[in-house]
Amino acid sequence: MNDLNLTTLDSGTAAVSAAKIDALAGRLRGSVLADGDAGYDDARTIWNATIDRRPGLVVQCKDAGDVAQAVRFARDNALLVAVRGGGHNIAGNAVCDGGMMIDLSQMKAVRVDKAAQRAVVQPGATLADVDRETQAVGLAVPTGINSTTGIAGLTLGGGFGWITRKFGLTIDNLVSAEVVTADGETVRASESENPDLFWALRGGGGNFGVVTSFEFKLHKMGPEVLAGLVVHPFADAEAVLKQYRKVVAAAPDELTCWVVMRQAPPLPFLPEEWHGKEVLILAMCYCGDMQAGEKATAALRSIGKPIVDVVGPNPFAGWQQAFDPLLTPGARNYWKSHDLTELSDAALGVLLAAVRALPGPECEVFLAHVGGQADRVAPDATAFPQRNAHFVMNVHTRWRDASDDAAFIGWARSLFDAMKPHAAGTAYVNFMPDDEGARVEAAYGGNYKRLASIKKRYDPKNQFRLNQNVKPAA
Ligand SMILES: Cc1cc2nc3c(=O)[nH]c(=O)nc-3n(C[C@H](O)[C@H](O)[C@H](O)COP(=O)(O)OP(=O)(O)OC[C@H]3O[C@@H](n4cnc5c(N)ncnc54)[C@H](O)[C@@H]3O)c2cc1C
Repeated sequence: MNDLNLTTLDSGTAAVSAAKIDALAGRLRGSVLADGDAGYDDARTIWNATIDRRPGLVVQCKDAGDVAQAVRFARDNALLVAVRGGGHNIAGNAVCDGGMMIDLSQMKAVRVDKAAQRAVVQPGATLADVDRETQAVGLAVPTGINSTTGIAGLTLGGGFGWITRKFGLTIDNLVSAEVVTADGETVRASESENPDLFWALRGGGGNFGVVTSFEFKLHKMGPEVLAGLVVHPFADAEAVLKQYRKVVAAAPDELTCWVVMRQAPPLPFLPEEWHGKEVLILAMCYCGDMQAGEKATAALRSIGKPIVDVVGPNPFAGWQQAFDPLLTPGARNYWKSHDLTELSDAALGVLLAAVRALPGPECEVFLAHVGGQADRVAPDATAFPQRNAHFVMNVHTRWRDASDDAAFIGWARSLFDAMKPHAAGTAYVNFMPDDEGARVEAAYGGNYKRLASIKKRYDPKNQFRLNQNVKPAA
């Protein structure tokens, strides 16, 4: 390794000698990489292709000890630090220019205790890694709908998906976490150990330290669920959505139904004449008894005259991957999101107008369906406040060519602005792009003040600032 000029916390540079870096490397089970080394480009490449940053130094950690070494080295040299879990976050904070990137992607172990219904998960694991191990013994923890997402970032922001209405957010199933704090110390956080840190980790993002392991409570699940898509012509979208909101208002916790509006991809079960035409998709999952599921989904499946209904028994772990082909890494992406407590006629009008003006074939408007068990936890019981946002709008703007950036981003921002009057005001930090730093305080609503005071205690210098940043209280 050569001497390196690395970006510091105050946006300056520090000259760090080769000897110091070699000494760090000697203390690690993992390795250090700089620009030009084999593996450097893979380490810095993340899901969203609009993010193209070049860290000065990458520390590829193999265990919690490596993480502590990396954090201490960053502290001693006042380095800017980015932390990479699964590398999926839209904002791209997993990677920085010039500073140190702590890359956790090789820490992928998932250890399941079937009898105790617990899993201990390292922070480089993806949702697929977690599902593979937990489903092998018929258990599951609620996570998200795209299996290549990292468990670390998803959990720290909150985490919701197909079985959240039944079992709560991912954070509602977090039992404890092991954390390397800004001073390089390793601590445990749980209801009984450092409870304020535990509170903040559950929704507060990567603000409070680097989590080196997560312990989750697991639930009996599957192995099959009743799940699939019902696809409608977009011309019927308004009528379908009005019926949809009635049905889901009375849905049992086992039933979750997300809405996707986009141009139809060439799915094998869709008649070819629909490929590339605007459609509305009801994507549903019933995570209980099959017969009860047939009954519970009947009202949704009998809405209007669908083009196709492919709801049926599916392996839970397979259904968790159903959207993977539409959300592969490598495209340019920009998201805009609002929490919604209801789907008013006016809100639906705004959404439908935007879908009529979709800027490209990979753009989509998603409505996540939450509530249920997630809403039976008090808004101040964890850092995640928006328990009563039963729908989360996420505008997935996706394109390939950098020359189209302005048009696609402009479309997403217009839709976001038009939806503002119909939104709750809070936001899901995991869906926020990198230009929404000014929105963080509102995102956390009444929980921001407590987050800021816990930040002051655990990270007074704001060492962990590359995230949806909570500033240490004054
Ligand atoms: C295609 C797609 C689909 C998605 N679907 C869902 C969904 O259904 N439900 C849902 O809830 N979310 C969903 N998300 C959002 C997802 O939860 C966030 O993008 C999340 O941040 C991804 O975590 P990661 O570890 O992969 O990301 P990274 O980019 O690696 O990390 C994100 C941030 O988390 C922090 N961080 C990561 N690891 C650690 C750690 N070990 N310790 C401390 N801080 C850390 C850092 O600040 C980092 O910048 C989706 C994202 C994508 C791209």
